[in-house]
Amino acid sequence: MLEELKKAVYEANMLLPKYGLVTFTWGNVSQIDRESGIFAIKPSGVDYDKLTPEDMVLMDLNGNKVEGRYNPSSDTPTHLELYRAFQNIGGIVHTHSSWATSWAQAGRGIPCYGTTHADYMYGEIPCLRCLTKEEIEEAYEKNTGLLITDYFKDKDYEAMPAVLCKNHGPFTWGKDGHEAVHNAVVLEEVAKMAARCESINPDVKPAPQELLDKHYYRKHGKDAYYGQR
Ligand code: 13P
Repeated sequence: MLEELKKAVYEANMLLPKYGLVTFTWGNVSQIDRESGIFAIKPSGVDYDKLTPEDMVLMDLNGNKVEGRYNPSSDTPTHLELYRAFQNIGGIVHTHSSWATSWAQAGRGIPCYGTTHADYMYGEIPCLRCLTKEEIEEAYEKNTGLLITDYFKDKDYEAMPAVLCKNHGPFTWGKDGHEAVHNAVVLEEVAKMAARCESINPDVKPAPQELLDKHYYRKHGKDAYYGQR
């Protein structure tokens, strides 16, 4: 069932090695069909070059496997919490891409130093706390999702489609799996540029707010004019 969805998720997953965002099996993409409430996700620990569209695992929003011969990604409960809380998203990505993960391991959000960042993400990309011992032992992946959704409960998750989990790595999202991968690629580039920027000038400050607003709002919202109609 949902053959188109599985194909889309397979293709989005294959973009991760293409863009150099994953090593071995580190990372996963999912996409949801909101009508049925079923999402497709990469199986856990299967080499990317062995994956096929049929290997994608279908899950419902109660955490039940609906179809698939493999176990779903170990991060499935995190994806599930994000789909439940962020009603407007259709796709999620997790990677251990090295620049974004370096910021996560350093426990720092990524300040907005320029317009590359501002074109996609409004403000500093947050780095959330490490889970407590109890949270890790009780339900690590689910609690990772709850930490993210709790952080965004009074914030605009569409204006900030990325988050860093301390000592772990990034999650990104978008209207579908493909857009979530796009945001993961942007995040990695922005993370790399911000790290270099701080090493070139340790006193660097975030770019002026009016410049960031200009770049974000010319691409997003009702007055956007970037690109083609
Ligand atoms: P899975 O292969 O289970 O998706 O795990 C990849 C990963 O990056 C775990 O954090």
